[in-house]
Amino acid sequence: MCESNSNDRIIIPAAQAFEIVGRASQVYVRECPCRALAQNCSRDIWEGCLLFENAAPEDLQGARSISTAAASAILKAAVERNSVYNLFYTHDDRIVTELCNCCTCCCRPLRRMKEAGNYRVQLRSEYVAVTDAALCVGCGACAESCFFEARQVEDGALHLLEQRCFGCGRCIEGCPEGAIRLEREVGRGVSIPSST
Ligand code: SF4
Ligand code: SF4
Ligand code: SF4
Repeated sequence: MCESNSNDRIIIPAAQAFEIVGRASQVYVRECPCRALAQNCSRDIWEGCLLFENAAPEDLQGARSISTAAASAILKAAVERNSVYNLFYTHDDRIVTELCNCCTCCCRPLRRMKEAGNYRVQLRSEYVAVTDAALCVGCGACAESCFFEARQVEDGALHLLEQRCFGCGRCIEGCPEGAIRLEREVGRGVSIPSST
């Protein structure tokens, strides 16, 4: 399970998930234990957790080796389902070990954080959502799609709680006006590990 092996975690946008898989020398897939346990959706339990060659041996137990093309196909399906991409990497040498395409209906770590209201303790990202005020019509659709409750609409005005935004990009898909984009925010102090 992705909570193991004292890895660090960041949330990344879908585009970066594709980049990381595309340059990986070896990709594996294994059953998503959260999805298998929660059964809160009909998603395939073999479409959650992607691992790389430097994953811990115990995490690779039962995993299947797949091509990068097959891994990209899993990512494409995850994008259609509006997943959240959790990237795990070793703390000291920052080597990427695992990429989880999490559904928020089943993911235990995400749901626990939401229940405890302490996202900031465990989650980081170097991206933040930016809304073009000239395009926003205040419909509130993006607030519905944000698992982290970073977006609120009051009296037709949108407010972003930046400390709750982890740059997952789900709100982009939810906005009918194309008003949202992700921007890299250097001050967030997190950078994407480059090696698998
Ligand atoms: S973190 Fe996400 S992909 Fe990984 S086991 Fe949990 S739900 Fe599945
Ligand atoms: S505001 Fe958008 S990018 Fe930020 S956490 Fe919410 S859905 Fe993700
Ligand atoms: S979904 Fe788009 S248009 Fe609607 S409130 Fe959010 S940013 Fe504005």
